[in-house]
Amino acid sequence: MTDPAFTPDQKGLQKALDALLGSTQNSTGSELDDSLPESGIGEYKTLELLAPMILDGARKLGAEGAFAHMDPPTPWITWATTLWNASLNQNLLHPDVAPIARDIETRTVGWLAPCFGMTGGHMTPGSTVANLTALWAARELKGLKRVVASKAAHLSIGKAAHILGLDYTTVETNNIGQIDQKYLPHDLSDSALVLTAGTTATGAIDELELGLNAAWRHIDAAWAGPLKLSEKHRAKLNGLEMADSVSISAHKWLFQPKESGLVLFRDVSPAHDAISFGADYLTVPNIGILGSHGATAVPLLATLLSWGRVGLEYRINTAMQLADDLETYLKLQKEIAVYGPNESGVLLWRIKEFSDMRPILGKLPTGSASYTHVDQTDWIRHVAANPNANIDLLKGAIQKILIEFS
Ligand SMILES: *Cc1c(COP(=O)(O)O)cnc(C)c1O
Repeated sequence: MTDPAFTPDQKGLQKALDALLGSTQNSTGSELDDSLPESGIGEYKTLELLAPMILDGARKLGAEGAFAHMDPPTPWITWATTLWNASLNQNLLHPDVAPIARDIETRTVGWLAPCFGMTGGHMTPGSTVANLTALWAARELKGLKRVVASKAAHLSIGKAAHILGLDYTTVETNNIGQIDQKYLPHDLSDSALVLTAGTTATGAIDELELGLNAAWRHIDAAWAGPLKLSEKHRAKLNGLEMADSVSISAHKWLFQPKESGLVLFRDVSPAHDAISFGADYLTVPNIGILGSHGATAVPLLATLLSWGRVGLEYRINTAMQLADDLETYLKLQKEIAVYGPNESGVLLWRIKEFSDMRPILGKLPTGSASYTHVDQTDWIRHVAANPNANIDLLKGAIQKILIEFS
């Protein structure tokens, strides 16, 4: 007889779904033991124990107040297909254990890469790994000595340089957070230049056509890359298509469950060859950093299929519009200073006469704002990852703060 733990239990799965959709009753939270339980409590009791803890304890990224971080809500089609993934547990390392899933990834990358002017690539668990992968390929192909990026580049760039044994040079930014061309080293013949499309702290988009003399040009488009899929906003990323490689976090503005990202190359064959290893037990080369890895392309493909480019554009444009509305409102308040224009849905502001913004942060709706430090100054930061955010709620809270502190 098969072990029932591995066979479908419709009642159990329904119970999990009911809990997710909020119809659990009389569930009481309790504490987990400090040590590994000797005997199990069974699946049903496990669901009862974990539901209040995990579901109620989570930050609701699709709630109307959620406007603080680069973590969007996920469409339900990704929940359904992620359940399939967990059940099937394909391993894309080997065609024998992922016959369709490998094709799905190829197809998904094949749909997306041309939108960014790239010829191909592969999925990664996010842009930290995508950045490392791209710079690894660059080092192999170009014999690089160093990585050059602005001081506003994501920490994963410095991390990648460190892992790859490359020098790391950071360049000053201008008054709107872009890499400052004046300070760019003249000789980039032994360097990978990393430009950022949507810096994490301020959402700035570097001029993407800089440094054409660099041995390799990588664009970290983890956050703002998907703007390229919007007819309204794509011009902000002009020049992206001239990069040698591009990183995108699909778990940011492509609305995917974590961990989902892409590394794309303008000339994919040599890049993939440079970062491939063979093994006797594999019939295909192992490309990139990961060994065993799952079918994260399945929910991404399902999202693209459900929404199409136009559906994705609609959600991104909606989020951008919310940031525009908020920016317009903030700029009308004479007590408030706003950092830079809304380039990619990241907005920073401060009350001019205050140096410490943390007390303000505590008065804003939960999940609506975070705190950041840029150019020796404290700022309140919002990120338009959630197209369902209610900006009036946020405006109301800011209005109250202004009255209280005036
Ligand atoms: C989020 C982010 C990263 C890191 O990506 P992960 O998907 O979190 O690994 C890199 N660069 C930028 C600009 C980012 O915003």
